[in-house]
Amino acid sequence: MAMFVFPETPWCAPRSIPGGSCDDAVVLTEASEQVIYDIYDALAEAFPDQIKKQVMGEVMSHKINRYTIMPRKALWHRIPVVTLLHGREAGCAWTAAHFFRLLLLEDDPRLDILRNHVCFDVIPVANPWGFAHDLRKNANGIDLNRNFAPDFVYDRDPESSEYGGPFPGSETETQVLMQLLEENKDATVVLDYHNVGNRYPLFYTYGGPEVQLAETVFPALTKKWQQDYPQLRDVPALGLHKPNGHEGMFADYIISKGLWALTMETPMTMPGLSQTKFDTPTIHISLEVLVNTLLTITASMPKK
Ligand SMILES: [Zn+2]
Repeated sequence: MAMFVFPETPWCAPRSIPGGSCDDAVVLTEASEQVIYDIYDALAEAFPDQIKKQVMGEVMSHKINRYTIMPRKALWHRIPVVTLLHGREAGCAWTAAHFFRLLLLEDDPRLDILRNHVCFDVIPVANPWGFAHDLRKNANGIDLNRNFAPDFVYDRDPESSEYGGPFPGSETETQVLMQLLEENKDATVVLDYHNVGNRYPLFYTYGGPEVQLAETVFPALTKKWQQDYPQLRDVPALGLHKPNGHEGMFADYIISKGLWALTMETPMTMPGLSQTKFDTPTIHISLEVLVNTLLTITASMPKK
C-alpha cells in the first residue's frame, strides 16, 4: 500500500478565489451548467493544443461536456475527475473549475507537477439537469450515484431520495461516466467529487489506500485551518474518513474496473466557519482539500 507524503508546507488557496453563495456575483444554487462550462471553455480557447472538449451526451437539452487537459511534459498520472453527479452539490464543480483556472493561468510553481505531468479528464457537470433545477436526482427522478453495476439494487420506491432507477446503467449520465472509465483504464485514481451538508470534509472508504490518504491529508490540513481560522482552534479533527455502505455507486463501478476510487466530499457550509451555502471560506477550504490531496497523490503514487 502506498505511503503518502503530504507537501512540506500545505498549499494555500489564494484569497482572490470567489465563493458561489448568495453574497457573491455567481449564486450557484440559482445557476446552471453554463456557469461552469464558461470557465472551462475559456481555458479550452486559451489552450487549444492542450485541452480537448467533447460533448458526451445531452439530457433534456442540457449538455454533458468533457474536457481532457493534457500535461505540458511527460505523462506521469492520468486522473479522471467527475463533479456534480448530484445536482445540488455545485460547490465541487465550482472548486474544481477554479483549480483548473489556477493551474493553467497562474504560474504557481507548487502546482508544476500537476500542470506538467498529469492528464486530467474532466466531466465537470455530470448531472446538468439536476444542477439547473437544484435537485439531487436527474430528470427521470433517479439518484445517479445508485445507478451503477455491479452491486446495483432495485428499489421499488421511485420517490426514495436514493432511487437508483430500473436497471444499472439505465441513464445517459451514467453511461457517460462508464465511457470515461473505458478510456482511462490506466488511471492512477478516479476522483468522484461531491459536497456534504454542514459537515467537515471527508473521504468515503472502500478498503483501498484512501484511509491512509485521509490520515495523511486531514491532520495536516486541520493544523493549517486552526491557524487560519481562530474559530476552529478547538476542534480536534477538521476532516475525516468513513466507510460507505450504499449500493450501486460510481465508486463501486470504478473499483470493479480494477481502479482506485476516491470519493471526496467537501462541505456545502463549513461547520463553525461559514454563513451561507458555498460561501468563500468554504470554497477556500474545499480548494485546499482538492489541491493538497492531488499533490499528495502525485508525489506518492508510482509514475507511469
Ligand atoms: Zn453527492
